[in-house]
Amino acid sequence: MADCADIANAVIENNVSSRLACRVSYQQVSAFECEYCGEMIPEQRRKLGGVTRCMNCQVAFEQGLK
Ligand SMILES: [Zn+2]
Repeated sequence: MADCADIANAVIENNVSSRLACRVSYQQVSAFECEYCGEMIPEQRRKLGGVTRCMNCQVAFEQGLK
């Protein structure tokens, strides 16, 4: 039977592993062109790592439009 401490530990572990997964994706090489519209992705944005969309498409994606 799981008590509160076990549940808390499981939540923390999930949190840490999802954060690590995010970190890994940001270490990937960025695309030169946006995967949606084909526009060049600015160098400043590509430096973030793991970038696959231009700013406009990223905003649209985060707003659930794409
Ligand atoms: Zn785009």
